[in-house]
Amino acid sequence: MTDIIKPDLKVVKQIISSGGESLKKCYQCATCSVVCKLSPDDSPFPRKEMINAQWGLKDKLVTDPDIWLCHQCGDCTAYCPRGAKPGEVIGAVRKMTIAHYAIPKFLAKMVGEAKYLPLLIAFPVLFLLAVLGAIGRLHIPEGEIVFGHLMPHTIVDLVFVPIFMFSALVFAGGVLRFWRNIQGQCNGKCSLMSLIPTAISVNLDILSHKKFRKCEVNKGRALAHMGVLYGFIGLAITTALAVFYLYILKQESPYLLTSPLKIIGNLSAIALLTGITLVVINRFNVKAQAGMGSYFDWLFIGVIYTVVLSGILAEVTRLMGIAILAYPIYFVHLVSVFFLFLYAPYSKLAHMVYRTIALIHAKKIGREEVEEK
Ligand code: SF4
Ligand code: SF4
Repeated sequence: MTDIIKPDLKVVKQIISSGGESLKKCYQCATCSVVCKLSPDDSPFPRKEMINAQWGLKDKLVTDPDIWLCHQCGDCTAYCPRGAKPGEVIGAVRKMTIAHYAIPKFLAKMVGEAKYLPLLIAFPVLFLLAVLGAIGRLHIPEGEIVFGHLMPHTIVDLVFVPIFMFSALVFAGGVLRFWRNIQGQCNGKCSLMSLIPTAISVNLDILSHKKFRKCEVNKGRALAHMGVLYGFIGLAITTALAVFYLYILKQESPYLLTSPLKIIGNLSAIALLTGITLVVINRFNVKAQAGMGSYFDWLFIGVIYTVVLSGILAEVTRLMGIAILAYPIYFVHLVSVFFLFLYAPYSKLAHMVYRTIALIHAKKIGREEVEEK
C-alpha cells in the first residue's frame, strides 16, 4: 500500500506569513546545501528543510535540530537560483519551533504577530504604573535623582525575580521537550555526564564565534553578533554584581562611575549598542543577497535598542540632574527590561537556548560541518 502525503496548508501558510514567503519558489536543486559552510555532508541542510516546509511537515521541522545549526548567514539565499531565500525560510521555521515548544501558546502567538504589539507593551506599562500607584510613587520624586526613590530595590526584586523565574521555567519545559525529541539520534551517546565536556566545548565555540566567521556574503555578522552576545554577558555580570553590592556589601545605588559595577555595565551597554547597530547596518548592506529578516527579527532588534538606549539615557539625564527626563526614561527602561524577560521564551532571544542545545547534540553525535568545506 502506498502512503499518500498531503501538504499541510495551514503550516505552509504559517511559515509563509512568518517571513518564508518565497518558499514555493524552491525547485530542490540543492545549491543551498552545497554552498552552506555549516552543513554536514551527510543529510545536509537546508534543502531537506525546504522540502519539509513546502509540504508543511511540522512534526519533522520542529524536531529537526539542523534548523538551529543554521546561523542565518544568508549564503544559501544569495546563491539560490530561484530566489527562494532558504535562509529566511529556515528563520521562519525556527520561529514556528520556538512557538511550538513554548507555553502558554497564546503568548507565543502574540509575540509573533505585529498586531498584538500594543497589547504586549501595554501589559508591563500598566502593571508597573499599578505598582507605582500602590506604593504612592506616581510622581517625579524631589531632591537628588536616585532611581530607588521612584521604585525601591525591594519592589524591583519583587517584580522582576518572578518574571525571571517564569521565563526560566518556560525555557526549561521547552528545552526538555526539544531534547526528548532529538535525543533518539544519540544512540546512547548522550549521558548527562558525557554532555558536560561537550557543552563546555560548544560554549567556547559560541564565544569565539567560530561558526559565524564562516559566513561569506554577510561577513560582518560575526562581529555584530559578538557585540550583542558579549553585551548581554556583560549585563548579566553587572546584574550579579548589583546583587552583590546591594545584599552583601549593603551599598545602594547610585554608584560612582569608577566602580567596577558601573565600568562593566557601561562597557556592556556600549558593546550591545554597537553590536545591534552593526546587525542593522549589515542587514541593509546585504538585503539584496541575504534578505532583510522578518517582523520576529526586527522586534528583537527594537527591544534591544529600547533597553540599551533607555538605560544609557536614564544614566546621562541623571548625571545632568534633569529629573523630569531621568525618571520617565528610567520607567521606559523598566518597561523594556520587563518586556525582554517576560517574552524571552517566545521571542528571537530563545534561539540562544535552542541553538546551544542543538550544537551540543550535533557535536555529541559527530554531526558537524566538514572543516575544509
Ligand atoms: S532553496 Fe534554492 S538553492 Fe535550495 S534547493 Fe531550493 S531552489 Fe535550490
Ligand atoms: S543561512 Fe547560512 S547557515 Fe543557514 S542554511 Fe543558509 S548558508 Fe547555511
